[in-house]
Amino acid sequence: MGNTIFSKIINREIPAKIIYETDNILAFYDINAQAPTHVLIIPKVEIPTILDFNKNKHSELLVEMFEAAIEIARKEKIDRTGFRLVINCNSEGGQEVYHLHMHILGGRQMNWPPG
Ligand code: AMP
Repeated sequence: MGNTIFSKIINREIPAKIIYETDNILAFYDINAQAPTHVLIIPKVEIPTILDFNKNKHSELLVEMFEAAIEIARKEKIDRTGFRLVINCNSEGGQEVYHLHMHILGGRQMNWPPG
């Protein structure tokens, strides 16, 4: 089950530096960090994009992803200085891996507008 590289990380078929895990959620450091802290938070079930979000099936999961982001921000000590949460969607949104994920980026000044 699962077609993306993130499924392989969930199934421990390829390694990742895991920082947070529950029954439903996994978070690990991005392999190509864009900031001193760059972590990806993913649901263990495969949801290709945020467009596939289903209120009845996934509401609690999304809440858990936000809870994970808060805990990771505290763990990484970027909660006070600040951080950014990003979900890329489809090609113009810059999505490369079609398994829903939230980026948490921090440890440097973020700019706006994003590239
Ligand atoms: P996105 O462009 O939003 O789909 O983000 C995909 C992210 O996954 C990128 O930031 C990649 O650097 C990251 N990534 C790809 N493969 C791995 C991997 N094996 N371990 C950790 N992060 C990865």
